[in-house]
Amino acid sequence: MTSKHPETLALHAGWRRDPATHAVAVPIYQTTSFQFDSTENAANLFALKEMGNIYTRIMNPTNDALEQRIAALEGGVAALTVASGQAASAMTLQTLARAGDNVVASTDIYGGTWNLFNHTLRDQGIEVRFVDPGDPEAFARATDDRTRAYYAETLPNPKLRVFPIAEVAAIGRPLGIPLIMDNTAAPLLARPLDHGAAIVMYSLTKYLGGHGTSIGGVIIDGGKFDWAAHAARQPALNTPDPSYHGAVWVDAVKPLGPVAYIIRARTVILRDLGAALSPFNAFLILQGIETLALRMRAHSENATAVARFLGGRADVARVIHPSTLTGREAAWAATYMPRGYSGLVGFELAGGAAAGQRFIDALKLIYHVANIGDARSLAIHPASTTHSQLSAAEQHASGVSPGYVRLSIGIEHIDDILADLTQALDAAAG
Ligand code: PLP
Repeated sequence: MTSKHPETLALHAGWRRDPATHAVAVPIYQTTSFQFDSTENAANLFALKEMGNIYTRIMNPTNDALEQRIAALEGGVAALTVASGQAASAMTLQTLARAGDNVVASTDIYGGTWNLFNHTLRDQGIEVRFVDPGDPEAFARATDDRTRAYYAETLPNPKLRVFPIAEVAAIGRPLGIPLIMDNTAAPLLARPLDHGAAIVMYSLTKYLGGHGTSIGGVIIDGGKFDWAAHAARQPALNTPDPSYHGAVWVDAVKPLGPVAYIIRARTVILRDLGAALSPFNAFLILQGIETLALRMRAHSENATAVARFLGGRADVARVIHPSTLTGREAAWAATYMPRGYSGLVGFELAGGAAAGQRFIDALKLIYHVANIGDARSLAIHPASTTHSQLSAAEQHASGVSPGYVRLSIGIEHIDDILADLTQALDAAAG
C-alpha cells in the first residue's frame, strides 16, 4: 500500500484478499491454534526464527490485518491488539517497567487509567508519578534513574487540553525515556508518532470501532526510538530475558526491524497476562475503521457547532472544548490536532450539580452511557459515574467539578443534536 491518505489506508492497508479463498473482507479466523508444517517449523516459530501463527492468545490472522491497518494509519512499524484499552494502557508500561521502577504520567488522564496507575500498578511495585502537563518541564523534574517512560493522553477528557507532545518527547528522548501517548480521543486527527512520541495506544472501544459493539485495545510501535542507545535506562529490552531463553530483545529481533518493544509486549507480556483480543471483535473493529475518516470529520464538525451553541446559552457557565483554549494551550491544540478537535465537549451548568443531573435525565435523543466515541451522541455526569471512585481532590485534579457534563457528540444531523440539547437545557432550567 503506497498511499499515505488515511481514507485509503483505512480500507486497504494490511490486507488485499484471503490467501486461501480470495475473500475480500477479512475473514474471522475463529481458531485457537494453527497446525505446524513440521517439527522444524514449530521450533523455528517458537524461536522467532520464522514468523507465523502459533496460538490465538499471542497472534491471529484477523487480528494481524487489524494490527497492520492501524500501524499504517498511525505511521508506526507494527502494532499489537489486546482485549481492551485498559489492557493496552497497563501493557504499554509493563513491557518496560518492573517493580522498583517508575513512570511519569500526566494528571489529565481517563479515570480508569488513573486508578490502574495510582493503585494497581503501585501495588505491584511500579510507581506512577503524576505531573501537570501545562508545564512540560514538570516531566523532567519528576524523572530519576529508575524512570522508564512518560505517559499522557493527546486529548484528555474531561479537561480537553491538548497535550504538548513534541515538548515532552524532546525532554525524554536524550534520557532514553519514551513518550507513550493514549490517542483514544483523536484517531486520524492527531498523529503523536509524527511529533516524537515513541509508542501510541488506543482503546479501540471508542472511535476506531465507532459502533459501540466491541471492547478492544491496541499498542503501536513507532519504530524510531533507540532503545539500544540507552541500555541502562531500558533493561527490559537490553538485558537477557530469562522468560524467553535469555533473549536480549534489541538484538534478538534485529532481523525483523526496529520492533524490540512490540515483540516483547507480544511474546512476553501478552503471552503471560493473556488479555488477547478475540478475532470476532477484531473483525467488528475493522468494519468500524473503514468509515473512520468520514466519522472523525463529522464528529469534529458537529462538536464544534455544539460548543458554539453552548457558548451562546445564558444557563451555561463554562464550555470546555479545544476551540475555547487560549495562549500556548491553543497553539498546542492547533499544532497537534490540525484536522479537527474530535467529538468531545464539556460544559458546566450555572445551576450546578442538580441542574446537571436534571439535564441528563431530560435527554431524549442523546444516550446516557459511560462511553465516548460512538457514532451516536452520548452524555454523562462524570462526578457521579466515571470519576466517582476518585477522591474529591483527585476529581478536581482531573478537571471534574460537581456540575460538569460531558458530551460525546455523534454523527447525527446537527439540527437534531441541537434540538435535544435545547429541550434538555430548558428542562434543567425549569
Ligand atoms: N483510554 C481512554 C482515553 C479511555 O477513554 C478509555 C475508556 O473510556 C480507556 C483508555 C480504557 O478503554 P477500555 O474501556 O476499552 O478498556
